[in-house]
Amino acid sequence: MNPFELVTPPKLADALALLSHEESTARPMSGGTALMLMMKSGVFHPTQLISLTQLPELQGIAINGAGELCIGAATTLRDLERSALVQTHAPVVAQAMKKLANVRVRNVACIGGALAHGDPHMDLPPILSCINAEIDIVSAKGSRSIAVIDLFRGYYETQLAEGEIIQTVRIPSMAGRICHYLKCTTRSADDWPAVGICVNVQIHAHVIQDAHIVLGSALEVPTRLREVEECLNGHLASEALSVKAGELGASLVTPMDDALGSSVYKKQLVKIYLTRALQACMVEDLNA
Ligand SMILES: Cc1cc2nc3c(=O)[nH]c(=O)nc-3n(C[C@H](O)[C@H](O)[C@H](O)COP(=O)(O)OP(=O)(O)OC[C@H]3O[C@@H](n4cnc5c(N)ncnc54)[C@H](O)[C@@H]3O)c2cc1C
Repeated sequence: MNPFELVTPPKLADALALLSHEESTARPMSGGTALMLMMKSGVFHPTQLISLTQLPELQGIAINGAGELCIGAATTLRDLERSALVQTHAPVVAQAMKKLANVRVRNVACIGGALAHGDPHMDLPPILSCINAEIDIVSAKGSRSIAVIDLFRGYYETQLAEGEIIQTVRIPSMAGRICHYLKCTTRSADDWPAVGICVNVQIHAHVIQDAHIVLGSALEVPTRLREVEECLNGHLASEALSVKAGELGASLVTPMDDALGSSVYKKQLVKIYLTRALQACMVEDLNA
């Protein structure tokens, strides 16, 4: 690995100034769990790493005036897992942490890094996309906000421009909604997912409404399965409907072949895990 300088600025403005120089080879770093692997394998050669972990502007978990759960980008995955606010406001996020990597990774990896990395084989991008989360992005030139689902452009590619960093993740209220995320791993239980599927619905008098379904890991970017959503909306929740939705979902996608499974195998996984995630929502409704 090439030599590099690690800088830990105390304030956001300092970090943004360091990242704003043209032709800079500086790179933002959160937990470093992905960045270090990329540097060791020779994919990146930054000369300066700008640590974001001490910036007060990227810390904290709180509810804002609009009722959104606001999570600072430097919040570790372990803090997400243990936060009472996350457990109450977005339980699907807290629950997913238990099978995301291992505790050593979760202790240092941050929510900002988990999104900015752009690896398609991750758990948080499909979950945060499915629950309509947004991110606030800042740079020395200004700020902007986008939906998490719009962050991803392709394989390890995001919308983030040079010098931009994610400051906050905002999750709208999930009151009255039922949401489940299921991942299938083909090695250990806490491995990167071969397929991850998130289902977020309202169920009134056993009728499904406003379904959001996002598939992760199988395609280059988290992808909403809108045809499946249409097939569910306005229909009575039933086992037959969940099976039909799983079959439809699988028929719509051509998953990537990779080390986690072949395309044909992942198509089967989409069918089965989409059916199961929907059934988990229906069971939760029955037990409510
Ligand atoms: C052993 C192991 C197992 C794993 N298993 C899983 C798994 O089961 N599921 C899963 O989803 N993931 C898994 N991962 C991946 C892990 O989730 C990521 O490595 C981690 O989320 C990246 O976060 P980080 O804070 O360490 O990012 P870093 O490594 O610090 O950064 C990653 C990228 O994001 C950029 N960046 C970081 N923070 C910001 C920011 N705030 N704004 C803009 N850009 C930023 C960096 O410049 C870099 O390009 C695993 C990783 C390991 C090492």
